[in-house]
Amino acid sequence: MAARHLIIGGGTAGMNAIRTIREEETERSTITLVSAEKPYSRMVLPYYLDRSIAESHVFTATAKVLADWGVTSHLGKRAAALDTKANVCTLDDGATVAYDDCLIATGSSAVRAPVPGADGRGVHSFWTLDQARGVIAQIQPGSHVVMVGAGFIAFTILNSILALGAKLTIVEVAPRILPRMIDDTGAQLVEAWLEKHGVGVRTGAKLTRIDDVKGRLRLKMAAGGDLVADVVIMATGIRTNLDWLKGSDVKINQGIVVDDQLRSSVANVYAAGDVAEGRDLISQANAVHAIEPTAQEHGRVVGANMAGKDVRYRGSLIINIVEVCHLDVASFGAWDDAKAEAASGVKADRPAYRKLLWRGDRLTGAIILGRSSDIWTTNDVGMLKGLVQSGVALGRWKAHLKKNPFDVKPAFIATKTTSTLLPETILGRPSKAPGETPVAV
Ligand SMILES: Cc1cc2nc3c(=O)[nH]c(=O)nc-3n(C[C@H](O)[C@H](O)[C@H](O)COP(=O)(O)OP(=O)(O)OC[C@H]3O[C@@H](n4cnc5c(N)ncnc54)[C@H](O)[C@@H]3O)c2cc1C
Repeated sequence: MAARHLIIGGGTAGMNAIRTIREEETERSTITLVSAEKPYSRMVLPYYLDRSIAESHVFTATAKVLADWGVTSHLGKRAAALDTKANVCTLDDGATVAYDDCLIATGSSAVRAPVPGADGRGVHSFWTLDQARGVIAQIQPGSHVVMVGAGFIAFTILNSILALGAKLTIVEVAPRILPRMIDDTGAQLVEAWLEKHGVGVRTGAKLTRIDDVKGRLRLKMAAGGDLVADVVIMATGIRTNLDWLKGSDVKINQGIVVDDQLRSSVANVYAAGDVAEGRDLISQANAVHAIEPTAQEHGRVVGANMAGKDVRYRGSLIINIVEVCHLDVASFGAWDDAKAEAASGVKADRPAYRKLLWRGDRLTGAIILGRSSDIWTTNDVGMLKGLVQSGVALGRWKAHLKKNPFDVKPAFIATKTTSTLLPETILGRPSKAPGETPVAV
């Protein structure tokens, strides 16, 4: 009998797994997809928000594409329980799906600050397509938008809010913005840049409640200086969608703990993407990354293993890149490793900052910040990522970079980083040409 694969979650990880199963299998299998939402990419929602793309462009597979792939879909249905002894998943409508192996790729959900009024009218999260629709319907030119939370996700939608002609204020409880992406020096530069571009920033600011006052929203702050807004967006973190697995014997720590084939504690149950606690490339310890490249790579590796291959995952690199009013801000790897050797530099004449971190003569983390129009900044984003990802031995180029953290190119070329990276593949083979593979997701 053909193998029966069950994919739970039709986001980035789930769709990449389906595509890879079809690419890698030698015998046609049965694939069933259970997904609470239709397959789409959350990462492109900022472009939908500012109308750069139509809503139809956020979807990664239509019902027709799924049917062409021979996938039986239960869209709009949730997995509610997993019986790993009987190999059966129960859905929220009581239906059951039997499987030989199964992938849990249920992603995460936005969490709001636990204050009175957080669930009221005009207060939004921005994580799902539905939530994006809600925000789009409310922001008008001239609206005052208050974003609660100054993390990575808040910054992915910042440009779009400004492009809609709204006035924006960011409120962050931590002493600085982007607390899990860049250090103090970088955060100060970004904050000054935002203020120069008319964005209000309040750090160390604790929101205590939100009141609906005559059609507008009053945000009460612990230290006073209340704000009045038309729209509030809560970008106050995410949590994994794993509550439905309570009572199963799948081991969960911060996420589902997986091995280097992305198998959970139950051998025929895999996990991928935001819900998986898989290997980090730099530390080699398990971690939840909750970023798109990790979800994509996890999905590919799981798909190949489900199709009968033996693909081992070497770990994912933390990659955070945002562009804020034409300022590029990025960090890679262990950028906050207090035990690493570090060198940094700030330019006096323009917002430009580098911080490089080493273990031995290998670059293990980096922060880079500079104007997008500065071509060297743009190139260096890729080269720094390459140096961290490849882990090439820098030899004497380490001393050069320590002295000149802005002069990345000679070190990148001299250490032949491109030739180290080029043969690297996730599945141990080059990508397939269009036509040989199902439509890209
Ligand atoms: C606005 C925004 C911008 C972003 N920008 C970036 C970026 O620039 N770079 C980056 O690296 N990352 C970015 N991300 C994060 C990135 O989108 C996620 O890391 C990625 O989507 C994770 O993929 P996933 O497959 O694990 O989960 P998801 O894409 O979240 O998919 C999970 C799927 O599971 C479904 N599901 C949930 N519970 C159940 C259940 N019980 N049963 C069945 N189905 C269920 C959901 O409906 C969904 O379809 C962004 C996210 C957002 C919201």
